[in-house]
Amino acid sequence: MNPSISTDVLIVGGGVIGLTIAHRLQQTNRSVMLIDPAEPGSGASWGNAGTIADYAIIPVASPAVLRNLPALLFNRNSPLSIRKAAILSLAPWLLRFLRQALPAATQRNMQVLANILADAGQRWQELAEHIQGQALLKANGCLYVYDDQRSFELGWQDISHRQSFGIDAEMLTPQQLASLEPQLPPVEGGAAFFPNALYINDPGQFLTLMFKQLTDQGLHFQQASVIGLSRHKSGIEATLSGGNRVSAGQVVIAAGAYSRGLARMAGDRIPLQTERGYHLEFDLDQPLLGRPVSASSRGFYMTPMQGRLRVAGTVELGGLNPKASRHRLDKLQQGINYYFPHLKQANRSWLGFRPSIPDSRPVISASKYGNDIVYAFGHGHIGMTLAPITAELVYALLTSTTPPIDLNDYSAGRF
Ligand SMILES: Cc1cc2nc3c(=O)[nH]c(=O)nc-3n(C[C@H](O)[C@H](O)[C@H](O)COP(=O)(O)OP(=O)(O)OC[C@H]3O[C@@H](n4cnc5c(N)ncnc54)[C@H](O)[C@@H]3O)c2cc1C
Repeated sequence: MNPSISTDVLIVGGGVIGLTIAHRLQQTNRSVMLIDPAEPGSGASWGNAGTIADYAIIPVASPAVLRNLPALLFNRNSPLSIRKAAILSLAPWLLRFLRQALPAATQRNMQVLANILADAGQRWQELAEHIQGQALLKANGCLYVYDDQRSFELGWQDISHRQSFGIDAEMLTPQQLASLEPQLPPVEGGAAFFPNALYINDPGQFLTLMFKQLTDQGLHFQQASVIGLSRHKSGIEATLSGGNRVSAGQVVIAAGAYSRGLARMAGDRIPLQTERGYHLEFDLDQPLLGRPVSASSRGFYMTPMQGRLRVAGTVELGGLNPKASRHRLDKLQQGINYYFPHLKQANRSWLGFRPSIPDSRPVISASKYGNDIVYAFGHGHIGMTLAPITAELVYALLTSTTPPIDLNDYSAGRF
């Protein structure tokens, strides 16, 4: 049986990670093919909060999560919750997650995240320039607001900790916050401000632009799922839904939350789960905010997108079931009404699947059997932010050249 198509590099998954890798590889002389059953850019990458969060060095598993665990996991109103039906299937992942919440592991994960996030803003500026998407990339900083004195105190500790890793952040009084965001209601605890942070004011539009440019410049895209991978003397053979086969010299698995089974086909067991996240959108004639504002204790961002406000966030552990939880959406609605009571009826809602690893570090790694299969998934809450550096690291893995940062920290062999 002959493979029907052949390519130098096959990329499995066309989210922000797969597309950015394709963009990087187009700058070489290799032929590149992208496979996705859906429209590229329509997965988790489409509906996120859009922040280029180079300050997001705090892993999800931390001593604070450990202390508040029962309330966080079993209270369905908490910003981090678990679907009861999924507890058994999640147990192995949760155990690993809890180990990562111990102080020494958290400190280590913070350092590893700080290393990979260090020049995210600069890399995004270059990417936006390359695809002529600069108008969608905004540089107004980002805010964490603290509703009361208690959350200010916790926030202050959190920000001091980040500053010790070199993150540029300043605390604002309620008055300083009011002058930056005059339409926000007064909050007792003030805010933290990350002055250098960027955001994309329409991730979906950015990725559509990127995909168009890639195909205009010769990217071969096929709409299908990869359902099988096998190694042969001549390379990797991928079987697609619909029966076609692709023969590739190298394969990059970048299928976000759906990557675990694909990595298994390549010989690796990776503890990948999903943290489900939601958004609501409100169409607006005039923006209410000048920059992304995180309601930090409520677990969501309010991001000004083009012609609308997107309220995105919260974490629900509970698998890839596509049914959205009405309760979670209602909680987001209540959350936004705390700040903007007049936003009664959302114009649209969305559920997306963050690809999550217990230590909050992505897997950017050759497979156990070599760099003929390379992994680029598990970016959790910061996949938009990390896309350009991930593409650079994947390029280094594929070409056996020196990566810009130490890859051991993101290895598939660390589990
Ligand atoms: C509510 C929310 C808010 C967020 N906010 C931010 C933020 O502000 N900043 C930030 O940096 N990150 C944020 N994130 C995280 C970010 O969105 C993700 O980390 C990122 O989108 C992951 O990108 P990806 O390309 O790995 O996955 P995806 O975008 O999900 O893409 C994976 C692709 O793989 C395809 N696929 C699946 N199975 C197969 C298969 N068998 N064969 C071929 N293709 C396959 C899918 O169809 C999909 O298109 C947020 C996430 C959520 C849910």
